[in-house]
Amino acid sequence: MTTSASAAGWVEIDESAIAHNVVTIRAELGEKVEFCAVVKADAYGHGIDLVVPLLIAEGIALIGVASNDDAAAVRAAGFSGRLMRVRPAGRDEIDDGIRLDVEEWIGGVEHARIVSAIAAARGVRVRAHLSLNSTRLGRDGIDLGEDGGADAVAAVLADPWVDVVGLCAHFPCEDVTDVTDGTARFDDETREVLAGRHAGARIARHCATTFAALTVPESRFDLVRIGAGLYGDSDTVGGALRPAMRVVSRIAAINVYPAGSTVGYDRWHRLDHDARLAVIPLGYADGFHRSLSGTGEVLVRGRRAPIVDRIAMNSFLVDVSSIPRAAPGDEVVLFGRQGDEVISPADVARSHGQIAADLYVAWGRLLPRRPVAAGG
Ligand SMILES: *Cc1c(COP(=O)(O)O)cnc(C)c1O
Repeated sequence: MTTSASAAGWVEIDESAIAHNVVTIRAELGEKVEFCAVVKADAYGHGIDLVVPLLIAEGIALIGVASNDDAAAVRAAGFSGRLMRVRPAGRDEIDDGIRLDVEEWIGGVEHARIVSAIAAARGVRVRAHLSLNSTRLGRDGIDLGEDGGADAVAAVLADPWVDVVGLCAHFPCEDVTDVTDGTARFDDETREVLAGRHAGARIARHCATTFAALTVPESRFDLVRIGAGLYGDSDTVGGALRPAMRVVSRIAAINVYPAGSTVGYDRWHRLDHDARLAVIPLGYADGFHRSLSGTGEVLVRGRRAPIVDRIAMNSFLVDVSSIPRAAPGDEVVLFGRQGDEVISPADVARSHGQIAADLYVAWGRLLPRRPVAAGG
């Protein structure tokens, strides 16, 4: 990430939007459900250094991470509460995670043995969440439908070096029926696993992400793992969540080219009118994937302008023929609001052909970040 004041593009993080989203989601969940705020991938590109102090101020007591870099950044931001890893970790990560007091995500029988061996070698009991394949994600987790599945779960629960504090699962689809079915299976399977255990050794049950927690209340169980919603990338709660990221650049140059000429690499686009084309000084090296060639849009003077050429390494062209006052130096918004217009996560998903997070996580990590305190 560059931090220079003369950067060709930058990411603005609206801190008030994140605080608003935490408060809004908390109000939906009520007080009985624990709120795990997920900040993997440097807070989905929003910056752990910016986001975690806001979470602390809002009273968040449990944070979800993926890498140890995430975990160390969360600790460095002053968080002393519980940290949960939201995927299975490799040996070295688990070993180093002990120093950061990370609760591990156990992703299978063999993986449980690895966690146990590292804990034994260190002489500490490691707190962990045991993943079940109840939702049929088929990624990690023990499948109770398999022969020996129940015995395998019992063995992990009995392991002296692993302190199982959670039973967890993860949904494959953002679909109400799929989540409802997976929730019912998770409920049945975890009841079976926990039957006969005394109440003192309480194990939290959790499977919900933002979509599940906010659309299928039964999926909440004891705690929910909220990522996308924190950053406002969710249409749940009646659209009340506010996107926190804006990606901004400035027009570098404008040229007029005649109808019939081609523009950009591979003669990608042929102009069907005399066109004013603006050079935006960002490209795929900055996370503007070539999938956006000819499909994405940006905002100039509060109006939408289409990306017309093939995205190059460090520049691309937008057609500003219909925005006659556009000039070099004008602010260009690639993601987020400008005036009355917005490039939303849904817009990016449509242009890119993948979820918006696939791109904005990279934008946030590749471009300099600037916090903005005021909402808008
Ligand atoms: C990323 C992640 C979450 C958060 O999901 P969102 O849809 O962003 O709320 C929850 N659980 C796991 C296991 C994850 O990997």
